Amino acid sequence: MSDDEVRRRPESRGSSCPFDWCTTRHGQTTHEADEDHRSGGRSLTLTLRDERDGAAISTAEVEVGLLRRRSDTRTWLVIEDGRDIRVHITAESVHDLLDAVLADPAVADELGIPTGDGER
Ligand SMILES: [Zn+2]
Repeated sequence: MSDDEVRRRPESRGSSCPFDWCTTRHGQTTHEADEDHRSGGRSLTLTLRDERDGAAISTAEVEVGLLRRRSDTRTWLVIEDGRDIRVHITAESVHDLLDAVLADPAVADELGIPTGDGER
């Protein structure tokens, strides 16, 4: 994100939005439902295995971002491919998930996630 984008962001969100991550142009959308708070999405390719389906391996192009509908009391991490994959995880659960992974330095190391424990 360029410095210009960072500077423009609060203005484009509108003064009524309290979320720094939100990119919705509040007050400039056509439908009330479009006023949900959404972050910019990031696209990535996931490699997945479905154990229910004989451990079939596939890849999926997904978009990851934050969503907080106007009716929500929580912010959700959303992982979707627009078809079959629709995973919404609360921000608190994402935190718990990361804590669980980082709790075992050997697991974090296998996943390539720095834990700040230094060299072993
Ligand atoms: Zn917003």
